Amino acid sequence: MKEADLSNPDVVRYVVKRFGLRMHKKLGQNFLIRHSVVDGIAEAAGLEEGTPVLEIGPGIGTLTQALAETGADVTAVELDDRLLPVLEKTLAHYDNVRVVHGDILRIDIEEVMQHKPFTVCANLPYYITTPIIMKLLEQKLPIEKIVVMVQKEVAERMTAVPGSKIYGALSVSVQYYTEPKMLFDISPKCFLPAPEVTSAVVSMDVRRQPPVDVADEKRFFQVVKAAFSQRRKTFANTLRAAGLSKEDIASLLQKSGIDGGRRGETMSLQEFADVANAWSRLCSRTQP
Ligand code: SAM
Repeated sequence: MKEADLSNPDVVRYVVKRFGLRMHKKLGQNFLIRHSVVDGIAEAAGLEEGTPVLEIGPGIGTLTQALAETGADVTAVELDDRLLPVLEKTLAHYDNVRVVHGDILRIDIEEVMQHKPFTVCANLPYYITTPIIMKLLEQKLPIEKIVVMVQKEVAERMTAVPGSKIYGALSVSVQYYTEPKMLFDISPKCFLPAPEVTSAVVSMDVRRQPPVDVADEKRFFQVVKAAFSQRRKTFANTLRAAGLSKEDIASLLQKSGIDGGRRGETMSLQEFADVANAWSRLCSRTQP
């Protein structure tokens, strides 16, 4: 099926009919039907001959073919077993593609990628975008770059700056682990079936070092989580909800030079790090 252009809506309809498929909304099955978009995503990944690349949710193999055409070493993880015979046909021409049947949230990604550094390139299933991104980042996998299509609203949250209404825990995590860039928007018309929302492609270069010095990452993310769990509360009050005493909060804020009356959404990564590091120092002093 190499000659068949899988980004052509008529071809997609033919494949769907021939294999008796029904697209499952609950699995986020919106297939790309715009050639320029498919090529644009694959190109943004900057793949070279032999680069290991992980695709999450190949669907009927549209983006997979574009990734394979670069000569990269493609591993595509698909949950829906009804798509496996389709992929066998549409990818038959390529000896640089491996399809793995599994749930991306459950599989051992490092093992699947054979413990080598890799790139991620995917049109993500939207119902689990954040858990996928967080798994890729928090597991500290040897990822060089992530290029994903997500809902535009999620892409905006990933790249949001302090002080904007959409800046939140996802923005801090993504910016702590990566340098994200919004690349381009994609209209619902470029999918079959058309989703209800506009999409966007985000590229994230994974950082070798975080942009701020953090003594204890767990504590840093504890502060971030507290700050955004009740957005309408002042930062000082969110720390109270995280279990700190009034005295300790006063001491932390004083040491980090932060006004406790501010809201979490105004705080930079550096300011979260200052508070978390002051908290770590406080604990090391009070522990016997
Ligand atoms: N890559 C194709 C394209 O661009 O046309 C399809 C993308 S579609 C938005 C998302 C794909 O992810 C579907 O094929 C769906 O079956 C698959 N999927 C959904 N949940 C998954 C999971 N937990 N693990 C792996 N794949 C999943």
